[in-house]
Amino acid sequence: MEQARILENYLEIKRRIAIAAESIGRDPAAIKVVVVTKGHPPEAVQEAFAAGARIFGENYVEEGVVKIQALQLTGVDWHMLGHVQSRKARQVCQYYDTLHSLDSEKLARRLNGFCAEIDRLLPVFLECNVSGEASKFGLPAWDEQDWASLIPIIRSITGCSKLHVRGLMTMAPYSLDPEDSRPHFRRLRKFSQFLGRSIPDARFDELSMGMSGDYETAITEGATIVRIGTAILGSRPNI
Ligand SMILES: *Cc1c(COP(=O)(O)O)cnc(C)c1O
Repeated sequence: MEQARILENYLEIKRRIAIAAESIGRDPAAIKVVVVTKGHPPEAVQEAFAAGARIFGENYVEEGVVKIQALQLTGVDWHMLGHVQSRKARQVCQYYDTLHSLDSEKLARRLNGFCAEIDRLLPVFLECNVSGEASKFGLPAWDEQDWASLIPIIRSITGCSKLHVRGLMTMAPYSLDPEDSRPHFRRLRKFSQFLGRSIPDARFDELSMGMSGDYETAITEGATIVRIGTAILGSRPNI
């Protein structure tokens, strides 16, 4: 996609984010945008950077590392959004600024160990499956009856000294109607409030939710960080 188009799209997204935020009395400046660059070449990242984007998101650890190393952008954060296999945990700690998809105690322990080796703190989001969709990763949080049983796992993750839990992340099931995502976003927010009460020494202030098709709905349900690919960069060329 040519440069003018990416700039135009990015500005349009920012404008619509502001409208969504103001519609419920939220400060638009408090909402961050991850530009999801998976499936796009480094040139697309550069164009988004020129448009003003400073947070980029990738789904596959190695695809992102190639871009991170090729581009060497300064003042930029790279976020890992996709499922992380244990054997990729070290690279996440070495190359990424934030992980959105922490979904097990085992992965948390591995990440914590690697972060300790290189003496860094890794901000993380706990990925939650609040829809019950079988294809989704994430802690099984679709049934409120089960929330209490997740506390021990989450407590052990928040106890990892090198991980900084920022909040929760979810993906709503695919739908053409953004209103279909609302109950899932609402459940994630409710779960974060539940965790805030249940684990008072940890914080779950941030909500990573909303993509190209439903980010405005996510913002009206409390998203603090939205993850947008297609609506800014166009369709993914190499997937
Ligand atoms: C691909 C992806 C996105 C962005 O999706 P778009 O529909 O292109 O905006 C956001 N979050 C995750 C976890 C993704 O995998």
